[in-house]
Amino acid sequence: MVAAPAQSAANAPIAVRIVRGHANVHILIIEDESKTAAYLQKGLRECGFVVDVTHQGEDGLYLAQTRDYDLAILDVMLPERDGWSIISEIRRSGRKLPVLFLTARDSVQDRVKGLELGADDYLVKPFAFSELLARVRTVLRRGPIRQSEILIIADLELDFPRNRVTRGDQRINLTAKEFWLLSLLARHTGEVLSRTSIAEQVWDMNFDSDTNVVDVAVRRLRRKIDDPFDKKLIHTVRGRGYVLEAC
Ligand code: CA
Repeated sequence: MVAAPAQSAANAPIAVRIVRGHANVHILIIEDESKTAAYLQKGLRECGFVVDVTHQGEDGLYLAQTRDYDLAILDVMLPERDGWSIISEIRRSGRKLPVLFLTARDSVQDRVKGLELGADDYLVKPFAFSELLARVRTVLRRGPIRQSEILIIADLELDFPRNRVTRGDQRINLTAKEFWLLSLLARHTGEVLSRTSIAEQVWDMNFDSDTNVVDVAVRRLRRKIDDPFDKKLIHTVRGRGYVLEAC
């Protein structure tokens, strides 16, 4: 990776380059590695997104708080103001801007920290552009999930602002995917969701009809959400899919 050019003056103009594409989807990239930033900008621009890039955290935070973006791609390791601090500030100010964060280490602590601070998804470097694009599309389709929203189904409670799940008075720790899978089912309470629909919305992929990826994920989720409790909430509808409902 190539280092970003050093900032020579404290009063230097905000380091942002604006590239106009054809679509109405505006993405902000905050990434100090100029080579990575340029690569992302070029690829996303070719896909029709309108992309702004800044190499500095402080400028990134300013832009995120003052302009209307549909998504921010945020590198965690930035000089001076890091990605954690940026996302915390964005959330503290109440903005629902979806944030996809980039981390150099695939550590559980990093991922959990990012998601707890309010990120919508993460990607571990190095990554393929196709993977980033898939995440971007998924986050955009899902829309901001930092709503001050709490869903309650029977004794199950999903606290979206805090990414927190409880049943009764028991806190349930879920992985990011499990949380999204549960969120999807909970947002469609009483509605049967097909495996294909779940696969598309949670993994942004089309699975072959004979794959059991969704089944495995649901089984894992049930182990945490349903198995320890008498009342089961996730139900299998033979030949159709899954439904979350209280009765
Ligand atoms: Ca960096």
